[in-house]
Amino acid sequence: MKINIDRLMMDIDRYAEFGENDTGGITRPSFSCADHEVRQLFIRELREMGLSITIDGAANIWGRLRGNGRKNGSLVIGSHLDSVPNGGKYDGPLGVLMGKEIVKTLMENKVYLDHDIEIVSFTAEESNDFHLSTFGSRSFVGKLTPENLAEVRDSKGQLLSEELKKAGGGLDKYSLMKQNHKDKKVFIELHIEQGQNLETAGVSMGIINNVVGTYRSFVKVIGESNHSGTTMMANRKDALTAASEMILEVERYCKEAANIVGTVGSLNVTPNAANIIPGQIEFIVEIRADKERDMQLAVESIQKCWEEIAENRGVKIFYDVFLNQKPVALDLNLISILENTATEMQEPFLLLPSMAVHDAAHMASITRSVMVFVKSIAGKSHCPEEYSELADIEKAGNLILNGIINIDHIL
Ligand SMILES: [Zn+2]
Repeated sequence: MKINIDRLMMDIDRYAEFGENDTGGITRPSFSCADHEVRQLFIRELREMGLSITIDGAANIWGRLRGNGRKNGSLVIGSHLDSVPNGGKYDGPLGVLMGKEIVKTLMENKVYLDHDIEIVSFTAEESNDFHLSTFGSRSFVGKLTPENLAEVRDSKGQLLSEELKKAGGGLDKYSLMKQNHKDKKVFIELHIEQGQNLETAGVSMGIINNVVGTYRSFVKVIGESNHSGTTMMANRKDALTAASEMILEVERYCKEAANIVGTVGSLNVTPNAANIIPGQIEFIVEIRADKERDMQLAVESIQKCWEEIAENRGVKIFYDVFLNQKPVALDLNLISILENTATEMQEPFLLLPSMAVHDAAHMASITRSVMVFVKSIAGKSHCPEEYSELADIEKAGNLILNGIINIDHIL
């Protein structure tokens, strides 16, 4: 059985018209006008397919096709329809619209699975004005609660709870989401890779085994401010040169390790004047790794080296860890079913970690979850140039279509 790739690409182009700007980019954050319009379209189209629609507390949209009733629960395919400012048309919609295409293909072929099948579009996956990314999936799995959210407002002072109501959700409906956890037997998310591993290997698709964890810490380096002319080099406690060495150590360590990336993307110099030796530096270090042990080891090794730098340079270091999200291992059973399906189809694939966080990482806390990546051209995403080739999208779609039939039999 095969998906109808032309129909899918027409869907992707149609949905991309909502929030499209003059440069061809898409600006469709959740709760914007364009988002409300695309939600209405999506709900209408699912209804026309004969699916039953549920909008949960977080305004996530679920469309369900009944199976033949032999097995309980549903197999869920989905992702998100919101975008970053000036984003591309594949990040998110590809996973949602592929769900729709797969259900259409099953219906056309009169295949009724033992399980029900569902398509989901999660609300506000991208970072947004409420500073809550992967909002819909985190709410669904119970990581965000009405107590956390009651007073959350955007920069214009709008209450999140009011925006949710306008989109059909509401904090009063949150308790119902928890009752639905058991019903979701499997979650599958198709996404563009947003990296270049697949392109470099010349392979169309990847099956994802782990989703990276993220560690972020504020770091303060305290040296001594002094006159830049009269303080001889041997007598300085320059916080900036110490911080520079520390940042280079992050780069050195991460370059030598596999599947670890480290970044210092924010830095403040005090007093920040041409004729004063910098007395204080504040920066944020971020480390991402796909395995918990690797992450721990990276943090420990880098900090050990930093202590030596501090000792040599006579500066002091203070840490304030504000994010320590553990890596998530996706479901081994689903991974092996998809691997076998790809082998049956004689399609090559890579087994890869995801270096970005997706809704699947949160769904994995309540159900068996897996992801499939499609090759991204030049690794571009979150920009209008984001692009995946039709043939690659088709292969990944057929992998999920046949994979879900196999999952339905086996689980
Ligand atoms: Zn995405």
